[in-house]
Amino acid sequence: MSAIAHVAAMTPVLPGSVDAAGQPATLGVLGGGQLGRMFVHAAQRLGYFTAVLEPDAQSPAGQVSHHHIQTDYNDPAGLAELANLCQAITTEFENVPAQALQTLAQTRPVAPGAAVVGIAQNRIEEKAHFVACATVSGVTCAPYAVIETPAQLQAVLNERAYLLPGILKTARMGYDGKGQVRVKTAAELVAAWAELGSVACVLEKMLPLTAECSVLVARGWDGQVVSFAPQLNVHVDGILAVTHAYEGNMPAALATRAREAAVSIAQHLGYVGVLCVEFFVVDDGSAHGGLVVNEMAPRPHNSGHYTLDACDASQFDLQVHAMAGLPLPQPRQHSPAIMLNLLGEVWLDASGQRREPDWTAVLSLPGTHLHLYGKLDARAGRKMGHLTVTGPDVASVKGVAQRVAGLLGLPGLDVG
Ligand code: ATP
Ligand code: MG
Repeated sequence: MSAIAHVAAMTPVLPGSVDAAGQPATLGVLGGGQLGRMFVHAAQRLGYFTAVLEPDAQSPAGQVSHHHIQTDYNDPAGLAELANLCQAITTEFENVPAQALQTLAQTRPVAPGAAVVGIAQNRIEEKAHFVACATVSGVTCAPYAVIETPAQLQAVLNERAYLLPGILKTARMGYDGKGQVRVKTAAELVAAWAELGSVACVLEKMLPLTAECSVLVARGWDGQVVSFAPQLNVHVDGILAVTHAYEGNMPAALATRAREAAVSIAQHLGYVGVLCVEFFVVDDGSAHGGLVVNEMAPRPHNSGHYTLDACDASQFDLQVHAMAGLPLPQPRQHSPAIMLNLLGEVWLDASGQRREPDWTAVLSLPGTHLHLYGKLDARAGRKMGHLTVTGPDVASVKGVAQRVAGLLGLPGLDVG
């Protein structure tokens, strides 16, 4: 196994504490996007000071943090400053250079660690991990082939044509459906690999999906694990649009399997921090459908944003607890919830001109929780914020979500 199996329990970084030199307890994050922003909010609520390392001058997390170190992720001086300021460090950005995490780990606790982040950054290693723990996790991934060389491409064409129709995905740097090409024929596969620059890829068989879900797991330095119930996710054009988080969002037997599988995947990695595991539900002829693991994100995830408003501890609270060596009590969801992603389109009229959404109407509805990320420039497909609806029961949550979707022109809310 390539990942760290055991990490010694760390001395907790206590909230609000001050060291001998009078420096306040400070938590650091690599990356300044919205996930970093919500991490900073959670850390600050507990009284921690925060430091964000992010090259952009105007970033969602940099705007709200005590310290913003504005350097590249690999900059030795920036990393040294982060390590100097912080007692523990995490990441919000999946494609952060593993080397940066390794450098920081020489002097500070870093969660998740470079080895596991490296696995999640590379679809080839990620799938190998899923295959390696399939007997314990009880789930496997879609049938796939690795294509790194022309000879491997030829071998797939000759011997594994059953993988078509399929999706060719770059091994690295894919997100929100980018770096993927859907291919039906051998000729399309050859053209797609060239189009992607003949870089390392995986070809995955196209599966008949009936649904998609994800599970958030938090694991501490001491191996303690907690998880949230699976949330059901609806994607539009390869980007998450809606998350349904309530009992009955999927068959109970499938939900239990997904949750157990995600926990065992985190355990098997010796993971420390918050991990999101994404699954496909496929039509395999069985009553509830089969479960297939898709990918994992070594950080909180867009599909877990509902936990901010619908649970007594959010995914960001757990990220703070895990990295700081604090206890990880089992979170409890107190309200059913639907999360609606707010992409740049919400701020753009039919001719692409900026407009202000009708927040007055939206916020007059009960149980609406608006989260905007401080991004000033609305572009199509850009994640600008999200809105979670909570309520006393699923029917009322669906009713309000439907009205919000209508007011904002949001897609993907098929609540029947
Ligand atoms: P993310 O934003 O979650 O990081 P991503 O760009 O890494 O996305 P995937 O999650 O691999 O990409 O795929 C994006 C979407 O494409 C999936 O959510 C699913 O809807 C669809 N998809 C991916 N692989 C398959 C498959 N093998 N069969 C059917 N649909 C698939
Ligand atoms: Mg995905």
